[in-house]
This record gives sequence, C-alpha cells and structure tokens, in this order.
Amino acid sequence: MGTSYASTERDAIRSGTSAWRQIRILGLPVHDVTLPEAVERIRAWCAEPAPLRQVVTLNPEMAMAARRDPGFRAVIERAALVTPDGVGMTLAARLQGTPLRARVTGVDLVEALAFAGCRLFFLGAAPGVAERAARALAERFGARIVGTWAGSPRTEDATAALERIAATRPEVLCVAYGAPAQEHWIARYREELTRCGVRVAIGVGGTFDYLAGVVPRPPLLVRRLGLEWLYRLLRQPWRWRRQLALPHFAALAVTEAIRARCSSRP
Ligand code: UDP
Repeated sequence: MGTSYASTERDAIRSGTSAWRQIRILGLPVHDVTLPEAVERIRAWCAEPAPLRQVVTLNPEMAMAARRDPGFRAVIERAALVTPDGVGMTLAARLQGTPLRARVTGVDLVEALAFAGCRLFFLGAAPGVAERAARALAERFGARIVGTWAGSPRTEDATAALERIAATRPEVLCVAYGAPAQEHWIARYREELTRCGVRVAIGVGGTFDYLAGVVPRPPLLVRRLGLEWLYRLLRQPWRWRRQLALPHFAALAVTEAIRARCSSRP
C-alpha cells in the first residue's frame, strides 16, 4: 500500500500532474493543498529538469477576472498548482460540499519558500519594494533572494527582466505585477524563463508590499476570521471598485452550490 502510494506520488511529481484532489470553483480548478504540501512539492519541482511549472494563488477577484478573460482562464487551467487564496474560495468550496483543508496565500507561500531555502528572484512592485522585501526576509531567516527587479509587465521591459533573471539563475521566480498581468507574463515568457533556469514561477500580487512593510498586513486575528477584504477596504478605500467583484463572486458561488446540490438529489 505504502509503496504504491509513494510511487504514485513520485509519478505525479515527475509528470507535473498533481496527486492532490482538485475541485472546481466557478468552473476553475483549485487544489486541496496545505502550505507545507505546496512547499514540499515546489522544492521537488526545483530539483527536477525543465519544464517550468506555473503556480497560481487563486482568489475571488481573480476568479471573476477569469470569467471575462478566456486567456487568463486558460493559464489557470494549465497551471501545475492552483492554491485557494482568500476566504471566499474556502467558503465557496464548503458551500458546494467539497471543502478544502487550507488556504495558501501568496505571501505565506513566499515566506515559506524563503524559509525552506529556495533560491528566489523577486520581480515587480514599485521601485525599491522588492529589494526591501528581500532584505526583510534575509534578516528574518537568511533567505536566499538571488535577485530583485521592479520592471513592468510591458513587452519592451521584458528583455531587461529576463537578462537579470538569466544572470542569477533562480529556482523560483515570484512575479508581482498584479493579477492577471503577472500570470499572463509568466505564461508568455515560459520558454525564456525555462532557459534562464527557472523551475517554478508564481504570481504573488501584493506580497512584496506586505513583506517590505509598505502596506500593513492584516493582524493574525483578522486573517483567521477571513476578514482581510474588510481590513483592506478600510485601509485602501480606493480599492472599493475592484472589491465589487467579491459580492458578485459570492452570489455566483451560492447559485452554483444550490444548483450542484439540486442536481445531486435523487
Ligand atoms: N504592480 C507592478 N506593476 C504593474 C501593476 C502592479 O509592479 O504594472 C505591482 C504593485 O506595485 C503591487 C503588486 O503589483 O506591488 C500587486 O498589485 P495589486 O495590489 O493589484 O495585487 P493584489 O494584491 O490585489 O493581488
């Protein structure tokens, strides 16, 4: 039994297909994964030859964006790992009767990978922010951030970013251009990044802002209660328009859950 599970797991790691349970939320794939499992898998991918694996930390705002953007949907479908980011994802999963064990946010994942000793490159955010984030992680646990570069998602800025990445040969590339620009950027330069030695690329949103202390991270209690969205709305009220996606997501998730439960009745 044990041996056969281990070999299934090995095959899954080798092929890049996940052995985790995958559910669908608003038609999008989401893996039932915990933070330690995600870190373990990413480290295993780092030790393997190409191809590059893309990781998406999917939150409700992104799920709503994917409804309007088929290209973004396709990128999420092709990702090797899609983690549930945001309380909306875990609530939607529970509502439809397919609960997820954990949430794995971008900032938690980056911190954990840094702690695990992965060679990381921080791309994106405002000038100076990625450096400050890298310094903060190095001070906290001697993280190996091999390079940082603000750059931008514009095509004309890609060469400069790729040159810097190639020069430092990171295992994991963390891209903070905001969703879905960061996911599109990774997908678009997948082959170039593979040649630069990158094994795993993750879109990390506002992670560097949090790590650098530019944007305060919600206190642990607020995070445990799943109220980051409220905290963010109070601290960054100009985001209200973007957050309109959240009630829309909730309404769709409830409708989908009711439909799923009705159709599963005998
Ligand atoms: N960002 C960037 N270039 C852009 C757009 C965004 O570097 O063209 C950075 C922005 O500075 C921030 C990060 O992307 O550090 C994430 O932005 P946002 O708050 O939109 O992402 P979220 O946290 O909602 O995923």
